Formats: sequence, C-alpha cells, structure tokens
Amino acid sequence: MDKDSAEKRIPELRKIIEYHNRRYYQQDAPEISDVEYDRLMRELQELETLYRDDELATSPTQRVGAVPLSRFASFNHPQAMLSLANAFSSEEILDFDQRIRRLSKMDKMDYVAEPKLDGLAVNLIYENGLFIRGATRGDGTTGEDVTQNLKTISSLPLTMKRMVQYPVPEFIEVRGEVYMERQPFSKLNHRREEEGEEPFANPRNAAAGSLRQLDPKITARRPLNIFLYGIGSVRGISFNRHWEILQALATWGFPVSPLIVQASDIAACISYFEYIGSIRPDLPYEIDGVVLKVNDLVAQEILGNVSRSPRWALACKFPAAQANTVIKDIIVQVGRTGTLTPVAVMEPVNVGGVMVSRATLHNEDEILKKDVRIGDTVVIQRAGDVIPEVVQVILIKRTGREKEFRMPHRCPECGSEIVRLDGEVAHRCVNLSCPAQIKEHIRHFSSRGAMDIEGLGEKVSAQLFDAKLINDPADLYFLAKNQLLKLDRQAEKSVQKLLDAIERSKTPPLDKFIFALGIRHVGERTAKLLAGHFGSMENLMQADVTELTLLNEIGPEIAQSIVEFFAEDKNRKVMEKFRRAGVSPQIKVSSSNAVLHGKSFVFTGTMESMGRNEAKTLVENLGGSIHSSVTSKTSYVVAGSEPGSKLDKARAQGVSVISEEEFLKLVDR
Ligand SMILES: [Zn+2]
Repeated sequence: MDKDSAEKRIPELRKIIEYHNRRYYQQDAPEISDVEYDRLMRELQELETLYRDDELATSPTQRVGAVPLSRFASFNHPQAMLSLANAFSSEEILDFDQRIRRLSKMDKMDYVAEPKLDGLAVNLIYENGLFIRGATRGDGTTGEDVTQNLKTISSLPLTMKRMVQYPVPEFIEVRGEVYMERQPFSKLNHRREEEGEEPFANPRNAAAGSLRQLDPKITARRPLNIFLYGIGSVRGISFNRHWEILQALATWGFPVSPLIVQASDIAACISYFEYIGSIRPDLPYEIDGVVLKVNDLVAQEILGNVSRSPRWALACKFPAAQANTVIKDIIVQVGRTGTLTPVAVMEPVNVGGVMVSRATLHNEDEILKKDVRIGDTVVIQRAGDVIPEVVQVILIKRTGREKEFRMPHRCPECGSEIVRLDGEVAHRCVNLSCPAQIKEHIRHFSSRGAMDIEGLGEKVSAQLFDAKLINDPADLYFLAKNQLLKLDRQAEKSVQKLLDAIERSKTPPLDKFIFALGIRHVGERTAKLLAGHFGSMENLMQADVTELTLLNEIGPEIAQSIVEFFAEDKNRKVMEKFRRAGVSPQIKVSSSNAVLHGKSFVFTGTMESMGRNEAKTLVENLGGSIHSSVTSKTSYVVAGSEPGSKLDKARAQGVSVISEEEFLKLVDR
C-alpha cells in the first residue's frame, strides 16, 4: 500500500476498530468475530509501523479496549494490564521463539503454556492476604471497580491461605479471567428467554454482562467462575520463574487451571497448542487459544514490552469454527409467547465437527442489519453450544437472484395479524388461540421445570392438540383413555402411563404451577418468589400491581404482565377448569427449606445487603414469620445499622439479638 492510500486507510481503520470496541466492551454486543477484529487490528498495526503519524498516541492500537463506563468507579491498575500479541499459525509461533531468543541472547528458552480462556480479564488487589479491591481490565490502565461483584464469585478466596512455602505478601495484584461454563450459560439463557429477556450472544458476554451488573445481587445469581494466571506488582515476596508464581497462587487458595504446563521448548508449545485444540470441544468452558509465557522472569525483564504488549508472551489463537454455506430459505417460528423468530434454512455444512443446517437470525432488525437474503452465500459460526449464527453475507457471491426477506404480516400458523410493540425488536402473533402458541404452551406446561408430566413431550402435545382433544393445559385433566387409544402410535401401556403421570401432577408445588402457567416474564425464580409470598393461587390472582411491586424483585413490567394474565377472560376460564379437575397446588416447604420453621423475626435498623421486603420474603419462604414489635415470644431481633428502640426492648426482654451477617448465615445467603 502506498503512502497516500495508507493515510486514508489508517484513520478509517481506527474509526472502525473504535466502533467495534464500543460494541464489544461497553455494550456486550459484538458485531464481528474475534478473528475479523484481530485482522483489522493487525492491518492497522502493520500500517502504523510503516507510516507513523501524529495521531498514533491515541490510536486504538495504543489503548486496546475501551473507556470504562461512567457508572462504576474507575480504578487505576497499579501495574498496567498489557494485551498480548497474537499468532495464528505454527510459523508465527516459531518466529516468536526465534525473535525472543535473539533479543534475550539465550540459546534455549522454556515456557509456561496455558489455555486462553474466553472470559473477562480482572485484576485483584490483596493486602496482607485480604481481598481489598478488584477491577476489570478496561483499557489496561484504568478499569472498573467491580469489587462487590467479584466477591460474589464463590471460588474466589477473600483471604489468602497462609502456608509455609510461600509467605503471604503485604501487597499483590493477582490477575485472572472471570468466565461462565457452557452448561450454566445455556441454562441462564433459557431462563432469560422464558422471562422474555434478550439472551446473551455467548458465555463471554454473559460473564461480562454479569460482572458489570450495578446490582451485586444479580451478579451473585449468575454462575461465574474464575481462574488466576498471573500477578502484577508485588511487595513482600519474590519469584524466579513464572511457574513458581502459579504454584504460589494455588498454594494461597486461588483457582489455577489444571491444564497449565511447563514446556521445555517451542516444539513442546506447538504440540500443547495442538493438544488443547483437540480437547477444546470437551472442556466445560470456552477457550479461544493458548498463551505462551517465557518461564524465566529475568528473561521477561530483559525482553520488556513493545507498544503495550509484553514481548515475552504470545496468544496463539485457534481458528474460529466458521464455514460457508447457502441460505435456501428463511422460515418463521412461533414461540410460546407468540414471538416470531426468523430462522435460516441452509445447505447442511460441517462447522467445527458438527453438521449444521439451521441458524437463528434473531429478528427482522438483525436480518436488515446484516442484509441477509434467501439464496445468499454466508459465513456461519458456531461457538460452543451456542446456536449457530450467520456472521456475514459474502457479497461477491451475489447473483442478483437472491430474495429479500419480509416479516410476514400474518402468523404462518394461524393467519392472525402480526404486531410489533413499541420498543420491542420482536414481532408477535397476539392471537391467544394460535395453534403454534398453544402447542408450545402445552409443551411448556408439562416440561420438567414446570408440571413435569412424563411422556407429554412436544410430539404428544401436538398430537393431542391436532386431534382436537385439548385446547389448553387444563384440558389434559379431562382426557379419557378411549380417546387416547384412538391416536396413532399409542398403545394401551403408554396411554395408561401418560394418564397416571397426568393424575400425579394434580398436586404440584405452587411455584411449579405458577411457572407452568406461562405468564410472560414469570420464570422459575419469579414463580418461587410469588409462591412464597402469596401462598395460594387465590391470593396471587387477587393481587394488584401495587401489591406485586412491593416484592423486591418484581418490577412494574412483571407485575403488569401478571395482573393482565389473570384479568384475561380466557385465562380465568382455564383456571376454573383446573379447579374443577381437582388440580390443587401445594405450598410445600421442603425439609431443607424449613430451617426457620416456627421462628419469628423482628427487624430494626437498616440492612446493607437487602431491603425489608426481600428479607421478609426470604424468612417466609424458609417457614419463619416477621413481626413489627418485640415480645417475649420473638425468636430473633435482627439489628442492622442505626437500630431503633426495638433493640433496647429486645435486650430488656432477653430476646437474642443477631447482626445482619449472622442473619445471612442463618438463612444461608
Ligand atoms: Zn399465530
């Protein structure tokens, strides 16, 4: 590229990269794959080394990352968190080894090799063994103070273990990666969809989004994990080798990946890279490569840094599981809540070892943004267990015969009009009797997390509906054996089994029943909360928006959705049918839950970790009760900060007074 074109391309690249940085770091919604991003970054780096300009100091290559959001306190890392140089092939790995042996004048170089987790990098400060503060990497110099959120990660030690081999230093920065395993990630996304929330694009975004929650209570509910892999500045202990640092971290009680190894030379590193690549699909979490670090810390020192990357480390990236294929059609699926999801039907193709023929296109906006058309050749990508998605259209393959997709104006299942509510990306079929919705609804009702009716999967519920035997979940309880025997592939034995399962489901736990009803925004957790607070269907059905929003976790949107559900004539009829069928939800306080059975509580002062309403729900869910005044029958007075006269009264009456911390222990929080 000549000087003139480079002068045009450089600012253009900076703009593009800055845009993607914002999408990635601040909005947790990346638009391009990491491979593409890395390609852009490398192009810019190469041009910048050839053609220096005045803007270099503020170039994204010098900052890497993004400005922290203003909502968290910003945190200056005592020692900057550098970014790693990348390699994409074994040639590049060999180049790296040659370069550093030349620069350090060492014939032989040994390394520590570790999997590169696809999560969020963090820096943790420990003083005299105590966890003091923790922050995200941010731009490497300044991150976001997420101390409270980090504390919710149960595998992160708040105090370092004191061991003889490695004395606890007076000050240390410990570096690691917060991540989410694939399985809990899928569960979390499933729950979000049930509750009408946008699912996360991948485990990394879920981890980042969770760690950067303003409310630590939300973070606490997210299945986050952490691995520690290095240190920044340290006072009070010194090391000779990187491997020694890892041993010390493990000894102090930090989770360290068991897959980290010492490699005697670069050939061993390359075999490790290949080995980790081969076991990658079997790991419970996502990785995007392998990191190599020079083991000898003196050599690290000699090598130093270049443009905000250490010369002594290298990130070797795996190629993303991507493939090209042709979109044969775009169909529309109708979900339980009537949401229409466009799905690409593709020429089957092997992506990272799995045959793929469908990919979600999320919604109409997404299709327009990517300009995906029927007949297009596209790049698709699959990351872990995440549903395959269309990354981009290969425009040069367009023939002009491609067809643009239009969201249908009528539901493909029932022909009702489709609406798009203000502020929603989704289109919906609002016909409550839409067959697609009813089938989905019945399937949800009988699913494991809900009523758990064995033998009533997707196929059988569709079969029952198509045979006009059921039109809503309550109809299940009026099915007769001879009706079922007339159905295809239904033998006496399986019919009896199904009827038995339906019969058994007549006394469901209240929360499961509420969840099974499929009220929009009411997932398993909200259902539990409602069951615990209201205690019966009758009470819940009578609650208004004001009463519902008194519960800590219920916002106006959820409250509205619940009230509207029970106000709907059709739903009231279904509830009545349940009653006639003898379906009677039970408030079950299981033995593990009833730890506070018979105990009465009085609260005074302010609690730090939760509001009064939440505490009340918590106590009641565990079988206890809450009172406003202290009597000799009170079991506990919980004293928060600035307690009132109730505290004196409790002492006078000899009632036991406990702190917030003790209360949390009692309720196992
Ligand atoms: Zn419909």
